[in-house]
Amino acid sequence: MSHQLVWFRNDLRVSDNPALYHACEQGKAVSAIYIATPQQWREHDEADVKIDFWRRNLLCLQNALAELNIELHFFQVDSYQQIPLLIEKICQQWEIERLHFNHEYPINERLRDQNVIDSCRKITVEYQNYHDQLLLPPSTVRTKTGTPFKVFTPFAKEAKQQLEQSLYLYPTPPSQIAITLPELAEESGLKDIIWPNISQDIQHFWPAGEHHAFSRLVNFCQKTIGNYKQHRDIPSLGGTSRLSPYLASGIISVRQCWNASWQYCEPNDSVHVWQNELLWREFYKHVLIDYPYVSRHKPWKPLTEKIEWRQNEQELMAWQQGQTGFPLIDAAMRQLLARGWMHNRLRMVTAMFLSKHLLLDWRLGERWFMQHLIDGELAANNGGWQWSASTGTDSVPYFRIFNPVTQSKRFDPEGEFIRHYVPELAHLSDKEIHMPTKMNRPRGYPEPMVDLSVGRNRALATFKLLAEE
Ligand SMILES: Cc1cc2nc3c(=O)[nH]c(=O)nc-3n(C[C@H](O)[C@H](O)[C@H](O)COP(=O)(O)OP(=O)(O)OC[C@H]3O[C@@H](n4cnc5c(N)ncnc54)[C@H](O)[C@@H]3O)c2cc1C
Repeated sequence: MSHQLVWFRNDLRVSDNPALYHACEQGKAVSAIYIATPQQWREHDEADVKIDFWRRNLLCLQNALAELNIELHFFQVDSYQQIPLLIEKICQQWEIERLHFNHEYPINERLRDQNVIDSCRKITVEYQNYHDQLLLPPSTVRTKTGTPFKVFTPFAKEAKQQLEQSLYLYPTPPSQIAITLPELAEESGLKDIIWPNISQDIQHFWPAGEHHAFSRLVNFCQKTIGNYKQHRDIPSLGGTSRLSPYLASGIISVRQCWNASWQYCEPNDSVHVWQNELLWREFYKHVLIDYPYVSRHKPWKPLTEKIEWRQNEQELMAWQQGQTGFPLIDAAMRQLLARGWMHNRLRMVTAMFLSKHLLLDWRLGERWFMQHLIDGELAANNGGWQWSASTGTDSVPYFRIFNPVTQSKRFDPEGEFIRHYVPELAHLSDKEIHMPTKMNRPRGYPEPMVDLSVGRNRALATFKLLAEE
């Protein structure tokens, strides 16, 4: 019997899944595994809300695979180091011919996969791995001289030239022959794995399952994308797709998103702007692959390693808890805690406030975001933080510092978003709400924690010194 094994990781879906598809094409019998690594998740700062999202999606995946007669088996080890030995055991006991999995690109994941490949070689089990998370495989988007792009716009131009409007999508495989396997001592049930407790409110907000993800995508492309260009920066409007949690955990593929953006709507400026966002995602993943040191908490621009970031635990905590005294920043930080998600405009504003006005190390903010985002994803989070802190590739010039009050007036003109997340300010007028004065600031709401012009000048002086070196 040709027994194929699919190892699911950040690709929790049956449609357009290259590893699953090829396993089913090659085998008479197919089994699937998922290996939980709770200690490693902590080390990688995976958010509870994201881990719970995995649990709920694994349940959906288990059901979807069962319809194909493929059993999904669960295992739990602490860290990546234990995985090769576990996979060896599984392959030997179940007489696996070939292991299939989709690539992951951060350094630790690449090391884990290399160790698994070495184990497969040792026990003469074949393996095949596939590019899945990208529109275009690594090293294929290059400048004329063959080097990686360092700037987004020419990267996007080159990528668009290579991309068809309709990319190949792997069909959901047909039903397989059902098989019964001996239960291994190492197996856990999904329920035996220790999962974090998450409020039902958040779970409702982010329903699990690839069917849900796909209908969210189609709905967005049919109804919302047309106004994306005008609405995407206004946090009180649901003007963006909110597909990021589904993309980050592979509940939907980026190819499905790309195709839908051509298929379900008339191409116009808004559609192109959204496609560009998918390409920002692509860009940061290519940066992570081409400059792997960014996975190791290093700035993309080595010179910026010399910045002497301030250290102030109290200020960091005020920012984390949404108690800075700047209503838009506080609303955004509270949105992160309440929803496990934050609007893109606000991610930029809050990140810039931390790294510029407070001059606190961007890595502290990157970590806090990762620990709380349901869509936490190393390449995009690191890219977004390094963009905001002016330490990254194609990042914002250090002297272009968003003023949180001006941003508030511009992108939340009637204070609708602030009123929702900072209810103690709800009674203030549209004019007052962006920056309460001593007179109208309610008791309990903090004074602004920094004088914006002092913070701005401090950041400018710090970065200017560096630029002169
Ligand atoms: C400081 C900071 C941290 C961020 N951290 C993350 C993160 O951990 N995970 C994450 O997925 N995104 C991150 N982003 C990017 C962006 O904020 C989110 O992808 C976006 O808000 C998700 O909402 P949406 O799905 O409605 O996006 P849409 O506007 O509908 O965009 C569609 C998809 O494109 C991708 N995308 C959009 N904008 C960006 C961008 N600037 N960079 C990379 N990909 C993008 C996402 O996959 C998104 O789902 C970060 C941005 C900043 C400034």
